[in-house]
Parts: sequence; structure tokens; C-alpha cells
Amino acid sequence: MKNISVIGSGTMGNGIAHVFAQNGHSVSLIDINQDALDRALGTITKNLDRMIAKEKITNLEKENTLKNIVTHTSIESGVKHANLIIEAATENKDLKFQIFRDMDLYAPSDCILASNTSSISITELAAQTQRPEKVIGMHFMNPVPIMKLVEIINGYNTSESVTNSIENLAKSIGKVPAMANDYPGFIANRILMPMINEAIWTLHEGVGNVINIDTVMKLGMAHPMGPLQLADFIGLDVCLAILEVLNDGFGNPKYAPCPLLVNMVNAGKLGVKSGEGFYTWTHGTKELVVSKSFQ
Ligand code: NAD
Repeated sequence: MKNISVIGSGTMGNGIAHVFAQNGHSVSLIDINQDALDRALGTITKNLDRMIAKEKITNLEKENTLKNIVTHTSIESGVKHANLIIEAATENKDLKFQIFRDMDLYAPSDCILASNTSSISITELAAQTQRPEKVIGMHFMNPVPIMKLVEIINGYNTSESVTNSIENLAKSIGKVPAMANDYPGFIANRILMPMINEAIWTLHEGVGNVINIDTVMKLGMAHPMGPLQLADFIGLDVCLAILEVLNDGFGNPKYAPCPLLVNMVNAGKLGVKSGEGFYTWTHGTKELVVSKSFQ
């Protein structure tokens, strides 16, 4: 699988393009927004420079990585020669449905179609195409160049040979694949989001404050960061959307989002991206300052 197309050049798309290009693949990076493509190339260059500074790669490797990436603003031109397309566009069902119909129309008939979705059903995405056996989930973690895990999700119709090729491909770019079946939240978010939701309930009911909740999980459970800090990094709107997928998909009240989370999203307190969530982020992401609402 030499030719990889990546659709969406945001946070995840640029990381996915970077990792494949660094491992010798020809990458077509596609976005409807030229500014997003320019920003993505800037981010990839900055991340490669950081790797040079840490003596992880050479200048030549940086140049070769950048040479392996070309950009496109249309799916039609960007997927013509693809062996694999990884869709990493905005998390919106109707948008992804349209992208899967376009990929199916314009990509070679033997091309595998993957999605980096956090929560949308792979089986539903596959149903938009004439090749459901070639549709699979490839859920990378943020930041992609650093995080080892790729959760690989089999849709109802995904063929064994497609699963095997994607598993081998993930290993060949230095990632560790973990296989999941296509049920709401897959493995990662099925376990992570109820934990984050419970941490928010624990805060909402006054059992502990922000610092104590995060300290217990960090030092007591050896998590690299507490669940409230992690929720701020992921984006509280994203956490809410995934909990709604779990709640709708299973119809079990244990997944119902905590009203405090709903209130914070309605108030525009989305975490790092809006400057405030459980912590205040206007001064950067290095220092932990609890948001005024929770002091
Ligand atoms: P993002 O908002 O940073 O980037 C999305 C990009 O998609 C934007 O540049 C946008 O211009 C582009 N886009 C929108 N419509 C398009 C179209 N029709 N064709 C081409 N490009 C289009 O989003 P992100 O955080 O990179 O998330 C992308 C996907 O990855 C989502 O499905 C998300 O659930 C998933 N994901 C995100 C994370 C995370 O931590 N951010 C982690 C794992 C998975």
C-alpha cells in the first residue's frame, strides 16, 4: 500500500499524513480549505524540526518526508491513485456519509476506505458505498506522531483480508494495533468516556474538587493526566457528542451525560480550544490553573 490519501488536514489528518510520509509512503493530503492545508504543512514541518532537535531524525529524513506529501482541495483529484484512503474530516455523520460516497465514486475499485472517526458506526459508513467489505475503522490517537495505538474497527461486512492488511500496515509504520468490533464508542471511548463522565458527576455532587479528582486518578491509578484535564484536552463538546452516541446506541442510562457537562458545553466552556473548561488555558497548556467556576 504505497499510495495513501488522507481526507481532512486538521489535528488528526496532518499527524496521519506525517507518519505515513515519514515511513516512505506517497501521501495525498486533501482538505476543502486551502488554509487548513497550509497550516497542516506548517505543523508537520514544525514537528519534524522538533524531532531533528531531539536527534530522532536527520535533515535528509525531514526533506524526504515533506517531499512525500502533496496537497489537493478536491477528493476527485486526491484519491485517483490511492491504495488506501483514511478519512479524518470533521466528526459529522452527514458530512462523512457524503465523503464516503465520493471516495467510493472516485477511488480505484480495489482501494480500501478507512475512517478515523471517534464514534460514528463503521457499518453505517460502509453502507454508503458499493464496497462495504473494504471499509474499516483506523482510529489514531492524538498526537498521532507520538501515540502508539491504532484502534482498528471491523464493520459488519469488513473482510478478513482487509483487516489483516490494515493490521500489518499499522505495524509497518511503528504503531500497535488493537482490534475492536463496531459497537458504539468501540473500545477506547466506551471505557474512557464513562470514566470522564463519572469524574464530572463526582465534581458535580461535591465529592471532590477539580484538583483532588485529577490527583486521585493521576497518582492513585498511574494515569498520565487526570480525567478532567484530559476532558479539557479532548474538548468537552467532543466528550458530550461521544456520550450521546453511547447513550443513544445502548439506550442505557449509565451513559447519560452529566448535566454539568451539558451546561458547560452550552456555555461555550469547551476546554483547551475555547481557553476554559475545568481549567483555564489562556496562558498555555503547561500550567494547571483551575477555572474560576470551580475555585
Ligand atoms: P479538525 O476539526 O481539526 O479537522 C477536520 C478537518 O476536516 C478540517 O481541516 C476541515 O476543513 C476538514 N474538512 C471538513 N469537511 C471536509 C470535506 N468535505 N473534505 C475534506 N476535508 C474536510 O478535526 P480533528 O480533531 O482532526 O478530527 C478529525 C476526525 O478524527 C474526527 O472524526 C474525530 O472524531 C477523529 N478523532 C479526533 C481525535 C482528536 O483528539 N482530535 C482523536 C481521535 C479521532
